[in-house]
Amino acid sequence: MPIDFSPCRCHYCGSTALGEFSAQERMFGKGDTFSYQECEECASIQINPIPVNLGDYYTGDEYYSFIPLVKSGSFSNLLKAIRLRGFLNLKIDGLAPKVYGYWLKKVFTNFDVSVADVGCGNGQLLYELNAGGFKDLIGFDPFLDKSIEVAEGLCLLKSELSESDQKFDLIMYHHAFEHLRDPEKELQVCFDKLNSKGKALIRIPVTDSEVWQKEREYWVQLDAPRHLTIPSVKGISGLSEKIGFKVDAVEFDSTEFQFWGTELYKRGQKLRSNGWDEFSQTEMEKWKKKALHFNREGKGDQICLYLSKPE
Ligand SMILES: [Zn+2]
Repeated sequence: MPIDFSPCRCHYCGSTALGEFSAQERMFGKGDTFSYQECEECASIQINPIPVNLGDYYTGDEYYSFIPLVKSGSFSNLLKAIRLRGFLNLKIDGLAPKVYGYWLKKVFTNFDVSVADVGCGNGQLLYELNAGGFKDLIGFDPFLDKSIEVAEGLCLLKSELSESDQKFDLIMYHHAFEHLRDPEKELQVCFDKLNSKGKALIRIPVTDSEVWQKEREYWVQLDAPRHLTIPSVKGISGLSEKIGFKVDAVEFDSTEFQFWGTELYKRGQKLRSNGWDEFSQTEMEKWKKKALHFNREGKGDQICLYLSKPE
C-alpha cells in the first residue's frame, strides 16, 4: 500500500472526528483517485494516504512553477525600483504593482528586511522584489534543479526552510503551504526562523470557500493530489496561535479563477493557462464581480493570512 504517513487526527485542530471523500487528479487530466479526510470540527481537509509517487504529479512541461524565470533589462529594473519606492515609501497607491501590491503594502517595513519565500518555484516574485529594491532575498524550493544566485541579494536554494541556519524578518508562502506534509511542523519552523517582531504571510486556499462547499471535488483549488492539506480560516488561525503567532489579519483575495477553473473541471476538461478563453467576456466580468463580493463576505476560495511573532 502506498502509505508513508497516516494521521488519525486533523492536522490543524487535532480533532479525530474526520469524514472521508475522494477526489481525482484533474489538472493534467490523469483521473487518478485519492482519499481525503474532512474535519468535522474545523472543516479543514487533508489527503490520506499521501501517494508515495507524489513527484509524478509535479512533472510535465505544464507545471506552472517551473516555467523559466523572465529577467528584465537594467532600465526596466530602474523603473521598477522608482515605482516601488513611490508606492511603499511615499505611499502613492497608483504605483502599486497589480499582482502583489496589496499584500506587500501590508507586510512592508523597509527595504533592508531579510525575506524568505518558501516554495519559490522559478523565483519570479523574488526577482521582481529584487529589481524593486529589496536586497536580502532567499527562495527555498526542494524541487529546484540546483541552488543558484540569480542576482546580487537574491539566491534560490534547493532546500527546505528547516535546513537554513538563517533568520528572517519576513517569511512568505505563496500557494506553497498547502503542498507541505506537516502544517504544524512547518509553522513551528517558520516561527523559529523569524526574528523577534518578524512577520509571516501565508497565501493559501481555504475551505470557507462557497465554491468548495457547493462544487466539492470539482473545486479547482482542491487540486488532488498536490494539495496535501487545505485549512479553514479557523483551522489555520487556531494552529498559528497555538504555536505563538499573533494573527494580524485575514484577507480574502480570491479571483474569477475559482469559477472558470471549476467550470472546466465540471466539463471534464484539463486546466489550461488560457482556459478562460472558453468563456465569454460577459461571463468573465460577472465572475470577477462575484469574486470581489465573495471576498467581502468571507467566502472566497483563498486568503492572505498575516501573522507576526511577538517580541
Ligand atoms: Zn480540524
